[in-house]
Amino acid sequence: MPSVITERIGDILHVTIDNPPVNATSQPVREGLMQAVAQARSARAVLLRGKGANFIAGGDMAEFDQPPKAPDLPDVVAAIEASPASWIALLHGAVLGGGLEIALGCSHRIAQTNTRFALPEVNIGLIPGAGGSQRLPRLVGFELACEMATSGKMVNAEAFLKAGGLDQISDDPEAAAQALIANLPPRPAPISARPRPKADPAYIAATRARLTKGAKAPPHNLDALIWASKTDFSKGQPRERALHLKLRQSTESKALRHAFFAERAAARPEAISGASPFAVERVAIAGAGLMGAGIAASMLLAGLDVVLLEASEAAAEAGRNRVLSILDGAVKRGKLDASKLVGLAENLTSTTDYSAAKKADLGLEAVFEDMEVKRAVMARLATSLGPDALLASNTSYLDPNLIFSAIPNPSRCLGLHFFSPAHIMKLVEVITLETTSKTTLATGFALAKRLKKSPVLSGVCDGFIGNRMLSAYRRAADYLLADGAMPAQIDAAMRGFGMPMGPYELQDLTGLQIAFANRQRQMASRPASERYINFADQLVEMGRLGQRTGKGWYRYEGNRIPQEDPEVSALIRAGADNRFQFTDQQITERLLAALINEGACILDEGIAASADDIDVVQMLGYGFPRWRGGPMHYGNTLPNLPEMVRALASQSPGSWQLAQKFKG
Ligand code: NAD
Repeated sequence: MPSVITERIGDILHVTIDNPPVNATSQPVREGLMQAVAQARSARAVLLRGKGANFIAGGDMAEFDQPPKAPDLPDVVAAIEASPASWIALLHGAVLGGGLEIALGCSHRIAQTNTRFALPEVNIGLIPGAGGSQRLPRLVGFELACEMATSGKMVNAEAFLKAGGLDQISDDPEAAAQALIANLPPRPAPISARPRPKADPAYIAATRARLTKGAKAPPHNLDALIWASKTDFSKGQPRERALHLKLRQSTESKALRHAFFAERAAARPEAISGASPFAVERVAIAGAGLMGAGIAASMLLAGLDVVLLEASEAAAEAGRNRVLSILDGAVKRGKLDASKLVGLAENLTSTTDYSAAKKADLGLEAVFEDMEVKRAVMARLATSLGPDALLASNTSYLDPNLIFSAIPNPSRCLGLHFFSPAHIMKLVEVITLETTSKTTLATGFALAKRLKKSPVLSGVCDGFIGNRMLSAYRRAADYLLADGAMPAQIDAAMRGFGMPMGPYELQDLTGLQIAFANRQRQMASRPASERYINFADQLVEMGRLGQRTGKGWYRYEGNRIPQEDPEVSALIRAGADNRFQFTDQQITERLLAALINEGACILDEGIAASADDIDVVQMLGYGFPRWRGGPMHYGNTLPNLPEMVRALASQSPGSWQLAQKFKG
């Protein structure tokens, strides 16, 4: 089947792009469009549309690692723009990247109400490559174009129309196009020939200041927009193309493309291939605290019925209010239509009566992190729900095999490890136990996807993939404290690397007590040779639990800004084993070596199915910079990785189990 279908009816040429699944601008589409341009020579007008759910949702990433194949997209857009016929783009669904660039080559744009527009190249480390950065600001103005190109965010049809991007919005674009053709105005000037957009220097300076940290593609996009404001299209467009092609080879773009593919692959693991998930419509959640409420909100937003089960009437009421306030927040953030609020609240029951859960397809516990409490709650869920209902635990560290050991039909049991805040964080670790069936696992994945989350498969170990790596990362940081670094230096070094926060600021934000309880639990099983640094334990014993107590690794003066605290510095100095002066580079190298080595151990043990899965966990759950591609991908780009791991190990002999690839 050709990717571009043409049909001549009278003096109108109908051109339909048919390149499933998203009509990407692959080589056959470009070639087909060039042929359509040739056929259009004798036509009065051309109607250009995309078949399926979208007009065109971007380029073909599989082509990005290869040399460009003719015809190039900029030539296709230029040919459409230079065609003697009027090209009318009929837009619906997603009009992204190359799709938007093609629409900008047309003389008219008519969109359905549901259409969304974006230049998402920045999300994969690029700038547009077919004139998008030069034409879009000439059409909709510098600031909207700049916002779109530097953020990659979608703009809806209404906003795009208002900015001058569309001729009209119509729920029947075909009819609207026919009406336009019946009274066809003279072709407007091609966008490339329109005046340069005016750019306010203050806006440019403020945008530049906002984009200086981290990834390089956002400021590159700003630069390209500035070329549009300063030069003619004939100069700006080749510059844009040259930088686009150069950036395709950049480590940043490769890392971001890796992140994209890794996320997609993680959601379809081999372990569930061929399995048919069953439908989950009604969920019982035991424990309506921080996590239970967040998970409940996320389920309600996805259209599920939720029964919250609590230990007391007061806790049930508090849990319900917590969920409702999250939903209110979703309305305020524009994520939920206010008219839907009442309906969602009706789908929520909050009670102490487990019999309310008897029709649930899934029972999930999010009660205190305590084995006996969890086992007792799970036993009640198992007797209250039907014998085949799925049962899941949201435990962070406990062994789910033990939580479920007394449950009949254990093939229906699994771990669903959500992250906090659960209504926002996209990651869910789907934990497979010794007994979990393929159908159960597939249902866990399908549910996560229905919640618009990214599931990653994990086996059972202390902390699963993510928290186990977090423990290693924090231990490496504590060794640095004991050998001469201070929390503020370590935090600054990791922020400099691209983490949103350093390890100590993050502990203050989330609270020190969970990790404390965990270290106490692990005390008996910790290898005797492992160095143990007790600064965090001392802080907890002093009541310094983090931001919620106004003091933790830092002190806080009625706000969330960490201030260095002489009391903590003195405590660290007094307990330090050594006083080395670490450079920021040594700090990041030690912490990354700990993270990457632990990831490699997790792979050695078969806890994660692939290094890519580990990258997804770290990027979506722990803020590892996406533009670095996750720790395992990043590690592969470091020629000195073995030395980094050896330096980590020799700083604290007997403290690190090394992955196979770093041994010997
Ligand atoms: P929380 O203390 O905020 O909430 C626990 C809730 O469980 C409380 O509301 C409590 O009343 C309720 N509860 C206790 N016993 C109960 C019982 N017998 N029946 C019904 N309800 C009962 O704790 P949280 O932070 O929401 O953590 C819950 C679970 O989620 C823990 O296993 C934790 O490790 C895990 N988790 C926490 C986070 C996090 O960042 N806080 C992240 C991922 C997973």
